[in-house]
Amino acid sequence: MNFKEDLDEYTEELLDFLYTGKDKEDESGYGPAVQEMLVKARSGSSVQDIVDLFLYLKQARMDSGLSPDCLGLARSDAVGLAIKHQDLDEHRVSLGGRVNQAAFIVQQAGGRVDSYLEDRDREAPSGIMLWERIQENHARIREVLDMSMQEWNSFSGQLRYAIESPRTLESILNLPAGALEEVGRVTKDYRMRLTPYYAGLIMPESLDDPVLLQSVPTGEMVDNAGVEMPPVAADHSPARLIDQFYPRVVTIKATNMCAMYCTHCLRIAHIGKKDRIYPEQAYSEALDYIRRDRRIRDVLITGGDAFMLPDKVLRYMLSELDGMEHVRIKRLGTRIPVTTPQRVDQELLDILEESNDKKPVRVVTQINTAQEITPVSREAFRRISKAVSAVLNQAVLLKGINDSFVKMAHLCETIQEAYVRPYYIFNCSYRNPQFSHLRVPVEKGRDIVEGMYGNISGDAIPRYIATAGGKIPLHRSNVLDREQGDIILQKPWSGEQVRYPDADPEVYSDSRWGLKRYEAK
Ligand SMILES: *Cc1c(COP(=O)(O)O)cnc(C)c1O
Ligand code: SF4
Repeated sequence: MNFKEDLDEYTEELLDFLYTGKDKEDESGYGPAVQEMLVKARSGSSVQDIVDLFLYLKQARMDSGLSPDCLGLARSDAVGLAIKHQDLDEHRVSLGGRVNQAAFIVQQAGGRVDSYLEDRDREAPSGIMLWERIQENHARIREVLDMSMQEWNSFSGQLRYAIESPRTLESILNLPAGALEEVGRVTKDYRMRLTPYYAGLIMPESLDDPVLLQSVPTGEMVDNAGVEMPPVAADHSPARLIDQFYPRVVTIKATNMCAMYCTHCLRIAHIGKKDRIYPEQAYSEALDYIRRDRRIRDVLITGGDAFMLPDKVLRYMLSELDGMEHVRIKRLGTRIPVTTPQRVDQELLDILEESNDKKPVRVVTQINTAQEITPVSREAFRRISKAVSAVLNQAVLLKGINDSFVKMAHLCETIQEAYVRPYYIFNCSYRNPQFSHLRVPVEKGRDIVEGMYGNISGDAIPRYIATAGGKIPLHRSNVLDREQGDIILQKPWSGEQVRYPDADPEVYSDSRWGLKRYEAK
């Protein structure tokens, strides 16, 4: 099938490089290995055998300056093997393209992620890796709180035994006395709540544990200088329970409860100081608002946490929305699969699946560290992902919690392996001084997210967003310049610039194209 004898430029380049080596004594003893590889490359039908031989020859040339001539391979034989390689390959990839280009490019790219692969298990272990220790924590907490196994495994049990006071916190975590006093001072104004399950994700020996930092409030919350901006609802709530930034997407804040309260909660003003049950009329007024505006297409039920709603209320809201013709998509905002996966039972899954069968339901969650993904939460997400059309994650960029490339990349990869698609990373908001100590500069987040391009799967890369009266993308532009019809692009992973010819504006503005060209004038 040898229809083309001439070699491509990559292969010429490879052979020129090899055969400008010196024909001298093989002092390093490459000969025997070359002979062995040569026999395999000549006799067999393996593409890899030929590649291995030439990679080895290239190594010998680079290390010792040896030409293949002195290792028993004449240039004409090498040409024969190059042709054989290309004939064997399904895509007719040339030997030079493979050995001199692709292998090199892959190796170089590999170097970009080596330090991540080395550091991630130590710097940002997942809850799956830590599972044995988490199970020990769980056993200890269950004993201290005197919970039965049945209570532990139920959502109501997890809520009933939730840790809300410094004293209970003290009984399960060894915090310094000063720290506990602080927690006492802060919880006079702000709520603390950790389900026993979520508390068990904290590695008790470290005061900068990322789960601890997300869930146990510290003195900064009351001491930080600054004036709180009015909550979003103050000027973006056109109807009861509704927040609206966009014409076609609205949120219903259907509850003020969460199974755990985050130290960085953007909805802190709305969460308030105690759990409230909303009257039915509030829901019906919110739904009426949506019913009346036929532009609204996507409705996000949030809170607080949408999974705090009783099954009955969830079923009611979803079926009302399913009954509105103009509503095409529903979303549920919840952190509960991470903080209290016991909530995810068959009844809930049935509600989700039933509504998803009518129109797509998406679950939007918040996971900020790989540590929050355990075999239990992963299983909850697996089941949810089978019932709905997508599970998306909105992480918040937080100091000391996920503000490094390794932590964020490992979060994104871990959740993707747990059936969750990274969707947004929010730069932590400026609106609330309560958590200004957790903020990370915009530029730092950009470096982290841009660093993911080309290095992890594209669909594990979230969009980086500032919330400022709607969600504003913060990505760096990779469009550098324009020269004549070309655009100069920059690869975010290497900085390399490439020319990208733009669509021809004249062709684009031509209205007589396609089948229309045949239309009688
Ligand atoms: C986040 C949010 C949305 C949804 O925004 P998407 O970009 O569509 O995910 C809609 N309304 C409000 C008030 C929000 O806060
Ligand atoms: S789950 Fe959401 S609403 Fe609830 S405390 Fe955390 S950030 Fe706030």
